Amino acid sequence: MLPLVNIIYQKKKEKLGLDTLRPWDIDAEPEGIKPLIPFKTSEELIEKSIACFSKLRPFFGECLKKMQELKHLDLESRKGKAPGGYNCPLAESGAPFIFMNAAGQMHDVTTMLHEGGHAVHSFLAHPLELNGFKEYPMEIAEVASMAMELMSMDEWETFFTDATDLQRAKEHQLERVITIFPWIAIIDKFQHWIYEHPVHTHEERTATWNEILKEFQDNVIDYSGLETYRSNNWQRQLHLFEVPFYYIEYGIAQLGAIGMWMQYKENKEQAMDNYCKALALGGTRTLPQLFEAAGLKFDFSPDKIKVLMEFVKRKWNADCFDLK
Ligand SMILES: [Zn+2]
Repeated sequence: MLPLVNIIYQKKKEKLGLDTLRPWDIDAEPEGIKPLIPFKTSEELIEKSIACFSKLRPFFGECLKKMQELKHLDLESRKGKAPGGYNCPLAESGAPFIFMNAAGQMHDVTTMLHEGGHAVHSFLAHPLELNGFKEYPMEIAEVASMAMELMSMDEWETFFTDATDLQRAKEHQLERVITIFPWIAIIDKFQHWIYEHPVHTHEERTATWNEILKEFQDNVIDYSGLETYRSNNWQRQLHLFEVPFYYIEYGIAQLGAIGMWMQYKENKEQAMDNYCKALALGGTRTLPQLFEAAGLKFDFSPDKIKVLMEFVKRKWNADCFDLK
């Protein structure tokens, strides 16, 4: 992963015209660049999402249409509305509910496509006989949603008619997908150490954290002078406090999603069949079996990850800039 992360940050640095890239630069755009405006109203977001989903498979568009008919889409941000975004399955009708706070930004499109993936999963698993069968593992749920974000990228013209905007949106998405992996590894390794060393001093903990940070660190960003903040940086990850050992799941799911995307690029219809078949199984199989049903290998070996990252790199070269 890290070689790809390094290339991404190097490109970022060049794009921004900086001699040194600082952590706060990674979310920045060059001066004068305006934010992307993929839609203006929530009606437009719904309409474009339905069009985008329908191109992947008409059934996906039907799911969103059904939710719209039932008024199960509360997408727009408004005064007094709770923050957040989620898909909530509803057992009676089988048509879930999507709640989010859209404000016309790029980020809202990916949230909608992501939650839309969860919604398709809810629809597909609904016919299962018992509610318990519909309680599927988080990793496969996030394969459904994260794969939808990636597979739909070929249809993003729906949201971005301008070619430069489209490229920017895709770049942003791939950046987000890839650069999270080192952080997942850091958090996972750190919490393993915490639980293997129940009695440790603050100094030992800080030293271990810094060591792990360094192990999975890119070689482009300049972190100098930020040692105090970096040493305490683990405190911003809620999972360490509230849900022990829950974080690697995001990595497992994202790798599954990239695998799904790779299948999609090789054989769209087959990939869509596999996607639907796996999701329709709900939680009636083990996670490796669900991966298998989706045509994915439950394999996270370096060799497998290399194949996936080479695929991402090829896609990046084709869709965005040259990642040399
Ligand atoms: Zn999700």
